[in-house]
Amino acid sequence: MIQRCFQCDARYPLDEILYTCASCDGVLEIAVEAECLNRANLTGAGVWRYAPFLAVDAGDAVSLAEGDTGLHRCERLGKDLGIAELYVKNEGENPTGSFKDRGMTVGVTKAIQLGASAVACASTGNTSASMAAYGARAGLRTIVVLPGGKVAMGKVAQAVVHGAEIIQVEGNFDVAMKLVRELSLDSGEVYLLNSINPFRLEGQKTLAFEVCESLGRAPDAVVLPMGNAGNISAIWKGFREFKSAGFSQSLPRMFGAQAERAAPIVEHLGGTNESCRVEHPETVATAIRIGAPVNWTKAVTAVRDSGGRAGVVSDEEILRAQRDLARMEGRFVEPASAAPIAYLRKFGIEADTVVCVCTGHGLKDPDAILSSAPKLTQCQPTLGSIREALRL
Ligand SMILES: *Cc1c(COP(=O)(O)O)cnc(C)c1O
Ligand SMILES: [Zn+2]
Repeated sequence: MIQRCFQCDARYPLDEILYTCASCDGVLEIAVEAECLNRANLTGAGVWRYAPFLAVDAGDAVSLAEGDTGLHRCERLGKDLGIAELYVKNEGENPTGSFKDRGMTVGVTKAIQLGASAVACASTGNTSASMAAYGARAGLRTIVVLPGGKVAMGKVAQAVVHGAEIIQVEGNFDVAMKLVRELSLDSGEVYLLNSINPFRLEGQKTLAFEVCESLGRAPDAVVLPMGNAGNISAIWKGFREFKSAGFSQSLPRMFGAQAERAAPIVEHLGGTNESCRVEHPETVATAIRIGAPVNWTKAVTAVRDSGGRAGVVSDEEILRAQRDLARMEGRFVEPASAAPIAYLRKFGIEADTVVCVCTGHGLKDPDAILSSAPKLTQCQPTLGSIREALRL
């Protein structure tokens, strides 16, 4: 295995620390020769079950038992949306409550193997929550740069309790991202764990493997929210590698949902945003409030090559989808995670088996629910007044 530039195909050894290509500044990926892998070598559970596909030595893995999240059939919601077989891959079941843990177990293990003394990230919340937990487990210094305001409370609490050093800067995520990248390049001891890190994305691709193993085949379509778009890129890579290895027979179409006012990738695919940038991204789905997605070239390739599509959903549509999932299926996900359901209601997909990747747990962002919820009903402490209120 080797690091390869996604844009110009330049190659770098696995232990060279560079987050983008030295010659063209393109994003990097790990080249895996999946054809040589043997199914008998997939053993154990969770992300590290797929160690033969990962470019990081599993021997001293920093793990909190991530992966192996449920793939839940959603009959009622599926019927409502006109989809024969709808599944939710519920990434909120990971140790820190989001899919970021799949990447972080691999990324932090890599940091240890490289001899880094600190890990760092810019974050809309979940990356920092996850990095803080894995960094703590590994005994590393963890440095988090947060954009001013607009980070869900539960996620900040996680970073705090795990002992991260948290710096908040004026400006949005994209500003924070640029600064932390400079900080990492400037200091050899700080290892950057944003999704520009190709080793982190290797961990995230295991979601595709789990879906194939759970269903016994690849689904027809996979729908995801897109922020920095590392996840859609990683999962598409996973489906391709599983097929190359001969472990699955087909590939799904990949569908990406973005929020209306944070949709550079959708605009780019539609031909209206060449540079793939939005200046002031806004959405209630703070996890995808990203204006300059670092993995946009990979995401565009995933959508195009798979024959998928991308579309925008409004905040209102996202919040409705969040309620639908909670009320019809009993699953509480954060707003960004409901964007795929909103996408299905708005655009539909002609496919029988559809997997929505629900990226993070709803409890991370209770304000998104409570700020628009009706007031609680106040009652005298008597049976009569409770019955009156309930009309029972
Ligand atoms: C990070 C995150 C996303 C966005 O993932 P990208 O890889 O940046 O596209 C979506 N939802 C949740 C809950 C996240 O934490
Ligand atoms: Zn290059």
